[in-house]
Amino acid sequence: MKKYDFRAIEEKWQRRWEDEDTFKVELQPEQPKYYLLEMFPYPSGRIHMGHVRNYSIGDVMARYRHMRGYNVLHPMGWDAFGLPAENAAIQHGVHPAEWTLSNIANMRKQLKSLGYSYAWHREVTTCLPDYYKWTQWFFTKLWEKDLVYRASGQVNWCEACATVLANEQVANGECWRCGTPVIQKELEQWYLKITAYAEELLNDLDTLEGWPERVRIMQSNWIGRSEGARIDFRLPNDKILPVFTTRPDTVYGVTYLALAAENPLAKELSSGTPQEEEVRAFIERMQHRTTAQRGDTAEKEGVFTGAYAINPLNGTKVPIWVANYVLMEYGTGAVMAVPAHDQRDFEFAQQYGLAVRRVIAGPDTSRDEMAQAYVDDGVMMNSGHFNGRNNREAMSDIIDYIAVQGFGERNVNYRLRDWLISRQRYWGAPIPMVYCEKCGWKAVPEESLPVILPENVAFSPEGQSPLTEAREFIDVDCPVCSGPAYRETDTMDTFIDSSWYFLRYADPHNDRTPFSRDCADHWLPVDQYIGGIEHAVMHLLYARFFTKVIRDIGLTSVSEPFANLLTQGMVIKDGSKMSKSKGNVVHPNEIIERYGADTARLFILFASPPERDLEWSDRGVEGSFRFLSRIWRLVNSALPVLNGCQGTDVSNDAADLGKLRRYIHSTIKRVSEDIEIRLHFNTAISAIMELVNMMADKLPHLESGRASADYAAEYRNGLETIVMLLVPFTPHISEELWQKLGHETMAYLQPWPTWREEYLHREEITIVVQINGKVRDRLTVESGISEEGLKEAALSSERTAKFLSGLTVRKVVVVPGRLVNIVAS
Ligand SMILES: [Zn+2]
Ligand SMILES: [Zn+2]
Repeated sequence: MKKYDFRAIEEKWQRRWEDEDTFKVELQPEQPKYYLLEMFPYPSGRIHMGHVRNYSIGDVMARYRHMRGYNVLHPMGWDAFGLPAENAAIQHGVHPAEWTLSNIANMRKQLKSLGYSYAWHREVTTCLPDYYKWTQWFFTKLWEKDLVYRASGQVNWCEACATVLANEQVANGECWRCGTPVIQKELEQWYLKITAYAEELLNDLDTLEGWPERVRIMQSNWIGRSEGARIDFRLPNDKILPVFTTRPDTVYGVTYLALAAENPLAKELSSGTPQEEEVRAFIERMQHRTTAQRGDTAEKEGVFTGAYAINPLNGTKVPIWVANYVLMEYGTGAVMAVPAHDQRDFEFAQQYGLAVRRVIAGPDTSRDEMAQAYVDDGVMMNSGHFNGRNNREAMSDIIDYIAVQGFGERNVNYRLRDWLISRQRYWGAPIPMVYCEKCGWKAVPEESLPVILPENVAFSPEGQSPLTEAREFIDVDCPVCSGPAYRETDTMDTFIDSSWYFLRYADPHNDRTPFSRDCADHWLPVDQYIGGIEHAVMHLLYARFFTKVIRDIGLTSVSEPFANLLTQGMVIKDGSKMSKSKGNVVHPNEIIERYGADTARLFILFASPPERDLEWSDRGVEGSFRFLSRIWRLVNSALPVLNGCQGTDVSNDAADLGKLRRYIHSTIKRVSEDIEIRLHFNTAISAIMELVNMMADKLPHLESGRASADYAAEYRNGLETIVMLLVPFTPHISEELWQKLGHETMAYLQPWPTWREEYLHREEITIVVQINGKVRDRLTVESGISEEGLKEAALSSERTAKFLSGLTVRKVVVVPGRLVNIVAS
């Protein structure tokens, strides 16, 4: 027998899939569709084990659905703009385009070597003009719809990346990409009005039943809807300072107002006061602090502005402070402080000797000094005509009162901020905007798109975008008055590129529109999306926003892009995530060269259920290889004897034949349900392994020549079932064995095996139980049950036990297949 030569087998089938366009997919209106998508990779240079895991999971589901009769769209592409390419240009002098495209070529080859069933003719590359033309087109559509604006303000800045970041791209005060602490900077930038969709983005989370609860909660918290009131405090110059609060029931307890350091009022109010210099110094100091250093847990710090405001409800004059714990991100960058009922305010008041005024009675009301803020509910006090009422119940009346008196209004606030999308970098889609002194900012008209990223530029070692020096790029005629104008030199956040790529796959070669509405409506939503949890509030939120905007532009009727979401766990080794810095990386290439792609896929799918972390194990990889070798030997050993079975010992293997058939059908059922319903590929694989073991045990019987032709036929069916069930997991060896079993058409093109309920049941018989000759019970047992098993079943039956209580069993007589007689006295 030839040994399992995975190299030759994998090469052979990968070539055949390519030559025969096996995975090419066209829209078939009559056939049910299934859109399976894995988050597309950044072309860093090579595939890592996390990719292999993500794509192997996806490939199981795609191949399975295809064999179940769906027209499956399973595309792949490249999230190809981004900083690493530009850094490579700065450090090694290779152009970002060249670096990116050669990485793509390498990674495409790697993906092909893993045997994934991708529709490569639909490949999408975001850094190519045929794609980013439409990214720019969407930007101009958003501009037309008033969903784009330019504003100056405090923005998140990463020194290492030399660019601004959106709020979603700052985690724990650090840059999402490189981990550098983020600082604040005053800049004029472009924003997308994602907040216009805040309510819909929040409400539609309820429709996403196929998403992990955890991701929905993360998005809901990020959007952060809260109800409350806007209350207008009056400033000395008769200006109004609006403050947003979710606790209007505590408004009578306000003893100071606190401003964020970035709030322009801080400087304005202190101007000309003795505090002016101190305030200026404080603001400066805060600018160098990261968001994390100013969060809830930071020590409270602040400075008095020298100004006061009037509480409209009770006319109290309260001092206005600048405080480190107030951030511009929330509300108006100003809060009303109620030390008695908010712990942060309480700590601040203690620090600076500010008044604490209790307005909700708590258990320690009788004490003069509060030890901490009382944040629970209770009866209102010191609150004018609301005294004596429960604060929760009075909440709505208080807001009505505020509104009627003209002190403010009912308000819904969102934590979500608009999406800052300008990036001070070269390797991204140019923002298609032009500035003319006469006409202001104008969008580049559709016929002039794409705005091509100029290739011939010089990269500065300081990391400044070369576009800012590219005169030929910058100088342009105004699209309105044809006068001299200049182009925006910032590029777009690459998260815009990935906010609509799943729609482009539906119609990737369209050069008149981003995609046709018919194609989008046919393929979308994605039936199953697979990717990492780290995108819960970045990519997944942006993509939902873009889909809704695209719907409102009229290009699709779909409101949500991803019907089902699977967030796969990490690949870890020696207890931590595989990473270069930890030195625990296993490269997919090494595994493929040593054991083959099928082994790599099988190990990854078998080691852990998809959503859990996967611990790398060299022994596990070897075990997977041994299992595939075992199947290889089993099929190759059985084949020569299958046709020679003419044994006459029919009665003897009849029971065995029933058992074999039952095993085959229950394995089909388990594997199908594990893939389709539970997404537990590891248990699906163990079910197949059990069937393989069972059949290997029966091989000698087959080889003895005594087996009947019927038995041999069922055995062949078992082998074919194993091979078919393995197609989604280990496609190369499956195709090879399928061919060896005598089939000309690929296994992938066969319908998925089906099971029959009636074969799942064991054959059962009824046994009579007698005690001292009298019938006391009837038991249903499996037909092949042993004498010993029957004895035990009879003695342990509840009814028998009742009759035996107080008696001693003297003797048990078993008549196989009929009865058990118990003699007792
Ligand atoms: Zn960074
Ligand atoms: Zn003009």
